[in-house]
Amino acid sequence: MRFETQVIHAGQQADPTTGAVMTPIYQTSTYRQDGVGRHRGYEYSRTANPTRAALEACLAALEAGRYGLAYASGMAAIDNVLRLVDAGQHVLAGNDVYGGTFRLFDKVLRRYGLEFTFVDTTDLSQVKAALRPNTRLIWLETPTNPLLNVSDIAAIAEIASRHPARPLVAVDNTFATPYLQQPLALGADVVVHSTTKYLGGHSDVVGGAVLVDRADLHEQLAFLQNAGGAIPGPMDCFLVLRGIKTLPVRMERHAENAQAVVDFLRGRAEVTQVIYPFDSAHPHYETARRQMRNGGGMVSFVLQAGEAAARTVAENTHIFALAESLGGVESLIEVPYAMTHASTADSPLAVDPGLVRLSVGLEHAADLIADLEGAFSALAK
Ligand SMILES: *Cc1c(COP(=O)(O)O)cnc(C)c1O
Repeated sequence: MRFETQVIHAGQQADPTTGAVMTPIYQTSTYRQDGVGRHRGYEYSRTANPTRAALEACLAALEAGRYGLAYASGMAAIDNVLRLVDAGQHVLAGNDVYGGTFRLFDKVLRRYGLEFTFVDTTDLSQVKAALRPNTRLIWLETPTNPLLNVSDIAAIAEIASRHPARPLVAVDNTFATPYLQQPLALGADVVVHSTTKYLGGHSDVVGGAVLVDRADLHEQLAFLQNAGGAIPGPMDCFLVLRGIKTLPVRMERHAENAQAVVDFLRGRAEVTQVIYPFDSAHPHYETARRQMRNGGGMVSFVLQAGEAAARTVAENTHIFALAESLGGVESLIEVPYAMTHASTADSPLAVDPGLVRLSVGLEHAADLIADLEGAFSALAK
């Protein structure tokens, strides 16, 4: 099956007892057994649940892997993957990963004896130089948030496979989604998602997922998923499954609208920088073109007049909602310096105070541009 067919059918079949076309929400914690220890594949819903199993199989197919595991949130998924790393082992991570990821690594997991190095993973020489004999995991995010930096997944997987430590390569694929890029096919070992974003796609559910093709990794991760228990409920799995059905159509329109917004921003004198992976001025344009199907729906830009201007624009849109998060059908606007990235202020991850981040939604592009024009006109006042 091709991707557009998989999003609708992979992991799902009409319910054998009723013929229901949509995967039922199996709102049950336990399952009646046919005899002692004789069950039909389901014993207890922390371990497995049919609605979750459908979501896990669907996501695995989309990421071209054999195995999927769903979690209560993106952070729960990331936390589970990091439990593949033992005390005394080293993790090499990108230096502008999602803030929650950085917090988990730096503030929580260091306390358990894991070692972390954060480098610019868009620079392969930095990746090579930071690998150690005890490196167990390379953690990549591409494109990153909010600067949309793009790392070369295939090149880094190649570096990992040649290094004597043979570290695993994990990619947080939340921003790109499997429609734009499939890290497992590019040589990564593990893919992670916050399904809260584009996969769910409607800002109505929090969830996460881990996808792998290696049976040994799946076995270890399934053990950890059941041991830690940070699983999503069946209703949440249903919502993500439903969202995924329109992923390819949504991602096409997100990218079209994002390009229209980029073109508008390019023409504005107040804007000193527009950041979009498929914009030829982007520093990693070549890698993005090679690795991604389109540029996605996230656009960032810098206002010359700094934080006050960024706040003014963000507070004067009407269609773009001033909110954190991303990836839903509705457009969102935020000021990372004062909102999502406030905790990075004095760190190397600090962002420009005049930076504005847009999650460009599926409204009509002309309405989105008119909305931004209106917000820009508030700057002149
Ligand atoms: C939102 C996000 C996460 C965390 O996911 P939650 O579902 O909020 O726990 C991780 N990585 C990226 C890139 C994200 O955007």
